[in-house]
Amino acid sequence: MAPSDAPAELVQIGQGTWALLRLPGSWGQTNTGLIAGADASVVIDTPWDERRGQEMMRLFEPHVRRAPIESAVITHGDADHWWGSDCLPSHADIISSEATLEEIKHDNPPRQASLVVSASRVLSRVPVRRIAHPFCIIGEALAGVQPSPEKRVPSVTFTGKRVLSMGGRALQLREEGPAHTAGDVIVYAPDVGVVFGGDLLFLGSTPVAWHGPLSNWIGALERMMALEADTYVPGHGPLATKRDVGELAAYWQWITTDGRACFDAGLTPLEAGRRLLASPDGRNRWASWLHPERIAITLHTAWREWLGRELSTPTLRQRVAAFSDTRRLQLEFSQGR
Ligand SMILES: [Zn+2]
Repeated sequence: MAPSDAPAELVQIGQGTWALLRLPGSWGQTNTGLIAGADASVVIDTPWDERRGQEMMRLFEPHVRRAPIESAVITHGDADHWWGSDCLPSHADIISSEATLEEIKHDNPPRQASLVVSASRVLSRVPVRRIAHPFCIIGEALAGVQPSPEKRVPSVTFTGKRVLSMGGRALQLREEGPAHTAGDVIVYAPDVGVVFGGDLLFLGSTPVAWHGPLSNWIGALERMMALEADTYVPGHGPLATKRDVGELAAYWQWITTDGRACFDAGLTPLEAGRRLLASPDGRNRWASWLHPERIAITLHTAWREWLGRELSTPTLRQRVAAFSDTRRLQLEFSQGR
């Protein structure tokens, strides 16, 4: 079974509030959410592709009979959070931050991402699996995904904060990016004490910073903790507590201090990744998280930031370079270096 084929489990986390979890939350195993009011509902994110999108709609169906889906919030522009949007009712508004729509249209369009997925599928089948081929990572992770170049993009955008009134409930949409991507948004349902964190929250798997700055990610986590929510729904992984959010902030502090020390010593992102994964924190504190090798992607982003380059969504070339080092670390550490 491909990682993205993990079974989905619908969990009620509050009155009229559900999380659809795909555990353990590896590549493409994206959580989504449903918030239902008296006569209308909103969906938080959609999974990778049409098949999983339809599965989501089937599981949501009993809860939206009296409260039809009127809108969906897309937390950010990564394909695993919005490519299933075609499965939403055609009248539903699709809401995202303005920066996410820009990213989808210009920097990370479905056509390009679709091409990468298709190429990865082919390349991961040929016998290059033991070498540091960047497409091996994507190809292994996305083996079951059906990419399609044309998708329904967000139809309503906002910047900063917005209250979404829906079926008698008032949801807070808060733009917290750029951090994981250019336009990260969280959804806060204060009436049930639930935060949907999108990919600003990973639990049990190593987070990935595509955009940065890291300081803004730490700030976003501190603001999330200040909400004192009862439940935090990560983009990937099981339901989280405030303490888990703090542990993720500690990971970013570690990258900011120990990663920066590697940068100052003149190391490359790959060399820094090796050093950090072999360090006591790398071997102990974060060792239980899936995909420790993904630190390479984050370090490529951090290096751009520390070199003083303008922060932006990585280009295809930059993504391939980062995936290549990720694959190297994966091979080295799976062989017990
Ligand atoms: Zn994701």
